Amino acid sequence: MTQNTKPTALVLIFGATGDLAKRKLFPSLYNLFTKDKLGSFAVIGIARRTLTSDEFRENVKDSIKDLNGTDENLEDFVSRFHYHSHDVTDSSSYAALKKLASQLDSQYHLNENRIFYLAMAPEFFGTIAEHLKSDHLTDVSGFKRLVIEKPFGHDLSSAQHLNNQIRTAFAEEEIYRIDHYLGKEMVQNIEVIRFANAIYEPLWNNRYISNIQVTSSETLGVEERGRYYEKSGALRDMVQNHMLQMVALLAMEPPIRLTTEEIRSEKVRVLRALRDFKGEELKDYFVRGQYGKGTIDQTDLPGYREETMVDPESNTETFVAGKLMIDNFRWAGVPFYIRTGKRMQEKSTKIVIQFKDIPMNLYYETEKKVSPNLLVIHIQPEEGITLHLNAKKSGQQTEATPTKLSYANKGVNGINTPEAYEKLLFDCLRGDATNFTHWDEVALSWAFVDSISEVWEKDKEQSFPNYVSGSMGPDAADTLLEKDGFHWWPISDLDVEQC
Ligand code: NAD
Repeated sequence: MTQNTKPTALVLIFGATGDLAKRKLFPSLYNLFTKDKLGSFAVIGIARRTLTSDEFRENVKDSIKDLNGTDENLEDFVSRFHYHSHDVTDSSSYAALKKLASQLDSQYHLNENRIFYLAMAPEFFGTIAEHLKSDHLTDVSGFKRLVIEKPFGHDLSSAQHLNNQIRTAFAEEEIYRIDHYLGKEMVQNIEVIRFANAIYEPLWNNRYISNIQVTSSETLGVEERGRYYEKSGALRDMVQNHMLQMVALLAMEPPIRLTTEEIRSEKVRVLRALRDFKGEELKDYFVRGQYGKGTIDQTDLPGYREETMVDPESNTETFVAGKLMIDNFRWAGVPFYIRTGKRMQEKSTKIVIQFKDIPMNLYYETEKKVSPNLLVIHIQPEEGITLHLNAKKSGQQTEATPTKLSYANKGVNGINTPEAYEKLLFDCLRGDATNFTHWDEVALSWAFVDSISEVWEKDKEQSFPNYVSGSMGPDAADTLLEKDGFHWWPISDLDVEQC
C-alpha cells in the first residue's frame, strides 16, 4: 500500500562498492533527499572490501558530486551512510550486520522499516535472502522489502529455484524485482496515452491497428560484460524482461482500477495469450543475429567474436527480432514485431503503432499511396509522442503530404525527467510495487523465452556474424516483416521535434 507521508527506512545495499550502487543508487537517493521526498533514513553499504565508514562516505560523495545540492545537504546526506565489510557467503558476519542495523534503527528512529537492496551478482541472491531470515535481520516490526536486480534466473527452472529461495524470507508482495524500463517516464506513459484519451482506446485493437513495432537498439557493443553476456545473449538480456514488459503494457486490457494487483493481472493475461512456437515454426517468427566488424561515428569497431571474454567461435546472439502473436479477441491477427540489438546504427527505444489503411484511397502522395497513420512513442533517448497524419499538399487538389504532431516530454516539462532508478527506489520506499515485475510475469516470460532458446540451442547457427556493426541488424529481420507486407519504420525518420 502506498504511504502518503515521507518514507522512513533503513536501506541496506549489498554490493555497495559496485558499479550499480555508484552510478544509480547513490545519485537516486541523493536526488530524492534534495527534493525533500525522504523522511528519516540511513544506509548501510555492504561489500567485501575493507573500508571505514568515512572512506565509504567519500565514495558516496564522489558519486554525487555533479548533482545539484548545497554543501550542507551533502554533509547531512552522507553522514547517514555507514559501511559494513562483509562477505555475504560468510555466515558469521550477519550477526554483526544485525547489530548495526538495530543500532541505526534506534539512532534514526526508523520504525524497523528495512529495504534490502541486492546490487550484486545473482548467484548471491538466494544465499543472502536465506541468511537474512536465519540471522533474524527480517524479524522486524516495520516493513521489510527485498529489491532484486536482473537477471532473475537464466531460464524458468533457475528462476523458480531462485524464487523459492527468496520466498523463504520474503512474501511475494515484499519482493521488488527491478525492470528499470518500467521506471522510464514514457514506458509509464503508455498506460496514460491509452487509457486517458478517448481518441485512442476505441482504435486500440485489430480492427484499426495493422501492426506494432517495438525497437530497442544500442550502439554500444558488449563492452566489459563479455563473461555475463556469453551466457545470456540478447534474448535473455532484453527480450525476457524489457521487451515483453513493453508489449504487455501495449496489449493489456484496461485495468478496472489503477492498483498494483489489477495492472499486473492484466499484464499476466497478455503473457498467457502469447502464441508459442514449436521447432521449425520458430524460423517464421524469430531471427537472431551477431554483430561483426563495422564503423560507427567514423570509429572502426571489432566484431562480437573479437571482444574480450568472448569465445572466438561464439554463437551467442547480440540481436533478436521477433513477431509475437497475442491470441486473444483484441489482438487476433495483429503482429507485434520486436527487435533489439547491440552495435546498431542508433541508440533508441521507440514504439510504432501503425494503423490500418483507410478503406478507399482518394488521395496520393507524389507517385505513391498516402502513408498510414502512425503513433510513435519515444522512450529513449528522446521522450515524447508523435502522431503521423496526412494533410493537403499546398496548391494541389488530390495530393496529400505527411505531417507530424509532436509532443516532446522534455520540451514541455522544461526539465529532465527523473531517472528510472530514482522513481523505482521511491516507489519501493513508499510500498508501491506496480512498476516491478510479479513472479507470475517472470515465470510466463521465461516459459516463452525458453521455448525459443531451446530450439536455438539445438540448432547452432554457423553463419555468425550476420550483421555489420552500425547497421539495423541482419537482413532476415527485414524479411520477417516483408513476408507480411510491412517494413520497419526507419528510426531516424521518426524523431520528435521540440514543441
Ligand atoms: P559490480 O561487479 O560492479 O559490483 C558487485 C558488488 O558486489 C561489489 O560491491 C562487490 O564488492 C560486491 N561483492 C561481490 N562478491 C561479494 C561477496 N562475496 N560478499 C560481499 N560483497 C560482494 O556489479 P554491478 O554492475 O554493480 O551489478 C550488480 C547487480 O546489478 C548485478 O546483478 C547486475 O546484473 C545488476 N545490474 C547492474 C547494472 C549496472 O548498471 N551496473 C544494471 C542493471 C543490472
